[in-house]
Amino acid sequence: MITIADQFGIKSALEILGIEAINEGTSTGANNFANGKIIESYSPADGVLIAKVRASTKEDYEKTMQKASEAFIEWRLVPAPRRGDVVRQMGDELRKFKEPLGKLVSYEMGKSLQEGYGEVQEMIDICDFAVGLSRQLYGLTMHSERPQHRMYEQYHPIGTVGIISAFNFPVAVWSWNAMIAWVCGDVAIWKPSSKVPLCGIACQNIIKTVLKRNNVPEGVSCLVTGNESGDLINNDKRISLVSFTGSTRIGRHVSKTVAERFGNTILELGGNNAIIVSQHADISMVLVGAVFGAVGTAGQRCTSTRRLIIHESVYDKTIGVLKNAYSQLQIGNPLDENNHVGPLIDKGAVQEYLNAIEIAKKEGGKIIVEGGVVEGEGYESGCYVKPCIIEAENHFDIVQSETFAPILYVMKYSTIEEAIALQNGVPQGLSSSIFTNSMREMELFLSQSGSDCGIANVNIGTSGAEIGGAFGGEKETGGGRESGSDAWKAYMRRQTNTINYGTQLPLAQGIKFDL
Ligand code: NAD
Repeated sequence: MITIADQFGIKSALEILGIEAINEGTSTGANNFANGKIIESYSPADGVLIAKVRASTKEDYEKTMQKASEAFIEWRLVPAPRRGDVVRQMGDELRKFKEPLGKLVSYEMGKSLQEGYGEVQEMIDICDFAVGLSRQLYGLTMHSERPQHRMYEQYHPIGTVGIISAFNFPVAVWSWNAMIAWVCGDVAIWKPSSKVPLCGIACQNIIKTVLKRNNVPEGVSCLVTGNESGDLINNDKRISLVSFTGSTRIGRHVSKTVAERFGNTILELGGNNAIIVSQHADISMVLVGAVFGAVGTAGQRCTSTRRLIIHESVYDKTIGVLKNAYSQLQIGNPLDENNHVGPLIDKGAVQEYLNAIEIAKKEGGKIIVEGGVVEGEGYESGCYVKPCIIEAENHFDIVQSETFAPILYVMKYSTIEEAIALQNGVPQGLSSSIFTNSMREMELFLSQSGSDCGIANVNIGTSGAEIGGAFGGEKETGGGRESGSDAWKAYMRRQTNTINYGTQLPLAQGIKFDL
């Protein structure tokens, strides 16, 4: 029988990426140590065991941190544009590995092949961004209130950055953090999700060749595996910044633990994103934005569209168009580009999806498009589910929480103010969007009394951000920002310097202190 792995060249992709399939104790990269228990990585596409990886023990973690700390002493002295050049070479290397790495992302995580390639492209894009940034780590200069004094601020490397990432973006989120951290002069220690450890190892293998070629200490890029490493990072005073991407539940724990030791955090947590569909919207555009937002990555993006808030006058029409689109969705192997919807990450996620539908029904939700598990040939992994649509009310407990699956809640509104209140009326604040051709509605949505989210879009969906903007959200989404714009400032420590080049020592605020 021809397996998915055979058909789509997964074995050769793994080989190119330096991962030995079904090999107990697969290396976690030359500069790392891993002697702990076995983590098994199964593909949700076909339920096949791809490879076994060893988790890092406490001792392994300690050795890795030692290497990271030593590397920092050297790396922080390398001029920033030179660090940028190393990151430029990483981008070149990722270009070479785009195909096998994109395939591995798709096979190990279950997102479509196009999205797998898209993730690697995001990594390449952030490398390009970081190269330019390496010459733009600007501080301000200020006029001192004292004569013959000069004041300015400068940014220095912050130290070791701990990156803890979620399963749904197995490679891109790490690169958003690591590439920026590296040009800032920091070193990175990465704990990927234990659901997708091979993606972490593959990236590490790619990066380490670049570090070696440039005689850069390999501890600049470290990898630790296994959930226990998460808490070791949270509690480690040597880690100045923890950039955590994951659920609000774990993020709350990370936030408290790191704050307790006065460490810094960037928290990128759960979303509950809505699209407002105005009576002035172009419904054909809504269709693409809403359907991709709700079913793309099988609803497993932090920016997935979870709620559609539709004007009452276009409600029936919009629902009709959506029902028609949902009836045409092809569910199946994510590597097959004819399919629109791949699997959920594992059977646990399938159970959460089923539970959410049951709860929604109990709370009074009305099924518009029926969900359920897809069974039969090609669906042996048990991870494929049907995208479903439920008419619901915003205050339902289930609507207020994030279910990481393709469930779309739809609801009506009558005034734009009411729609914005519904959009904001959840604990999370990541991504939001309005489809409208009314300038008044657009501007209101983007104004200070509009969307309360970190991302607010007009006439595009909630899902799919570009690396150039600062990414992140408010409220229970955690308040962190990473990737573009001035998000780099979180990866550096700011220092204000005052230089007195005169012969007197006047005190600030005119304070007299005569001796
Ligand atoms: P998760 O919270 O279960 O796991 C995230 C990471 O935390 C994993 O690497 C996990 O191993 C690790 N972890 C587990 N226990 C830990 C501990 N005690 N200390 C430190 N780390 C620990 O999330 P998930 O299921 O992998 O991902 C889905 C969630 O991530 C969703 O809520 C989604 O919205 C969110 N997410 C947010 C963003 C964003 O940018 N806002 C992006 C992607 C995913």
